[in-house]
Amino acid sequence: MLTLNQWQQRAKNVEFPSQAFINGQLQPALSGSTFACISPIDGQVLCQVSACNTDDVNLAVANARAVFDRGDWSAQSPSERKRCLLKWAQLIEQNRAELALLETLDMGKPINDAWSIDVPEAADAIAWNAEAIDKIYGEVAPTQSDTLALITREPLGVVGAIVPWNFPMTMACWKLGPALAAGNSVILKPSEKSPLSAIRLAQLAVAAGLPAGVFNVIPGFGSEAGQPLAEHPEVDGLAFTGSTAVGKHLLAVGATSNMKRTFVECGGKSANIVFDDCVDLDQVAQAATMAAFFNQGEVCSAGSRLLVQENIAEQFIDSVIKASQSIIVGNPLDPQTQLGAIVDSAQLDSIKGYIELGQNEGAHLRWGGQQIQVDSQGYYLKPAIFDRVTPQMTINQEEIFGPVLCCQTFATDAEAVSLANNSQYGLGAGIWSSNLSRCHRLAQQLRSGSVWVNCYDQGDMTVPFGGYKQSGTGRDKSLHAFDKYTELKTTWIAL
Ligand code: NAP
Ligand code: MG
Repeated sequence: MLTLNQWQQRAKNVEFPSQAFINGQLQPALSGSTFACISPIDGQVLCQVSACNTDDVNLAVANARAVFDRGDWSAQSPSERKRCLLKWAQLIEQNRAELALLETLDMGKPINDAWSIDVPEAADAIAWNAEAIDKIYGEVAPTQSDTLALITREPLGVVGAIVPWNFPMTMACWKLGPALAAGNSVILKPSEKSPLSAIRLAQLAVAAGLPAGVFNVIPGFGSEAGQPLAEHPEVDGLAFTGSTAVGKHLLAVGATSNMKRTFVECGGKSANIVFDDCVDLDQVAQAATMAAFFNQGEVCSAGSRLLVQENIAEQFIDSVIKASQSIIVGNPLDPQTQLGAIVDSAQLDSIKGYIELGQNEGAHLRWGGQQIQVDSQGYYLKPAIFDRVTPQMTINQEEIFGPVLCCQTFATDAEAVSLANNSQYGLGAGIWSSNLSRCHRLAQQLRSGSVWVNCYDQGDMTVPFGGYKQSGTGRDKSLHAFDKYTELKTTWIAL
C-alpha cells in the first residue's frame, strides 16, 4: 500500500475520464453541457464531466440496439463472451491503483477500502459471471414422446443500469457482470456524485475486446440522463440501485413506458441483534460498530439499528462508544484512515439534520455527531451514537445513509424479532448469539433478504443480495441475477 504522500502525488497526475462513452469511444455530451465533479476530500473541483440528456440517451440506445441486433456480442458463443469478460476483469485488477484512486477522490471512501474491497469485488463480479455463462444449460421439458420442448434463456436486448454513489464500481459490476455475460447491450448511468470510475471501466472493457456499442456510459443527472433512459421504449430492461423513493418512481416509469423488466435494489434500515450469551462481547461491539459505520455509514445494508439485550445493554453500548472513539476519521487518501469523507455537502447537511432531529425527538446522543476538520473544506463527520431510541422515532425509521447508530434494548427473542421487523425496509439483519438453535429460529422469522449470524454484511458472489419489502425487487449476485437479464423461451416442437 502506498503512503498518503504517494497517493497525493498520484492524485495530482491522474487523468480523469470525464466524457460520455458511446459506441466504443469517449465523446462530449451532444449539448456540450458539463457538470463539476467535486471531491469531498477538500471540496475542490476534480474535472468537468459531460452532462448527458435525452439526445445522448437516444444515441446510446440506438447504438446499443444496433449492435445487439447485428449480434456482434449477443451472437457470440458463451465461451467467447467468457474470454472477453475475463480479460476485462484482468485489466480491472491491473489498473487497481488508478481505479481505487478515482473512487476515493470522487466519493471520499478510504483508499484502503477502495483498494482492498471495491476494485477486487468489481473484478470478481465480472469474472464470476464470465466463468458461469458457459456452464449454464437450458432444459428439455418432460413432455409426451411426440413432442420436444426446449426451455432456453435469451438476453433481453438493451439494458439500462442506474447506480448510486456509495460503491460506484461494485454496484455497476454487479449488474454489468450478468447482463453482459448473458449477451445484452448495456447503458450505464452512474450517479452524478461519482461518475469517474464507470467511464474508466468502459474504456477497459473495450480494451479487453468488448465490441463497440455493447457497453455505454452516460454520465449526468438523474432527471436529465436517468429519466429518459428509464422511459425509453427501446430499452428492454432496467436495473436500478438507489433510494426507495426513486426506485418506486422507476417501477412506475417502467410500467407506463414499455413494460420494460424493471428491478430496483433500494434502501435499508437493518437491525443488528446482540444477545447476552455471546462469547466475546467486546469483539461483538467492535463488529457492531463497523457494521454501522463502515464506508461512512453510506451502506444500504448498514447495521444502523442496534438491538441489545437489556441486561447487557449499558456495558455493551459503552463498548461500542469505546470502539467508535478509536476509529480514525479523516483524509481518505491516508491508508490509516477508516472513515473518509461524506460524499457531498448536501449529504452531510442531511445527516446533520437527522442528528439534530433525533435530539429533538428525545433520543439521547451518547457520543459523536459533530462535523470535524472543517478547515480542510472537506465533509467529515464523527460517527454518532444514540440510545434511548424508541421504535417510531424518525431516526429509527428513515434511512439516514450516514454514520448514525440508533440503539434500542429488548428482553426476549420475540421482542427482538418484533423490533427488528418494525421497518418498511427488509435488506439485512444480524444476529449475535452462541445459541445456534436460537439463531436458526430467528433467521427464519426476520423479514430480510440477508441474515448474518455471528458476523455482519458478509458474502461473496455465490449468494444473492437484495431486499424484502421496500428494500426492493430482484436480486444481485449469484446465478439468480441472470433472471433479471434474460427472457425464458419455450420452443415446442411437434415431432
Ligand atoms: P438515488 O438518489 O436514488 O440515486 C440513485 C441513482 O438514480 C443515481 O444515479 C441518480 O442519479 C439516479 N436517479 C435519480 N433520480 C432519477 C430519475 N428520476 N430517473 C432515473 N434515475 C434517477 O440514491 P443515491 O443517493 O445515489 O444512493 C443511496 C441509496 O442507494 C440509498 O437509499 C441506499 O440504501 C441505496 N443502495 C441500495 C443498495 C442495494 O443493493 N439494495 C446498494 C447500494 C445503495 P443522480 O445521483 O445523478 O441524481
Ligand atoms: Mg464526486
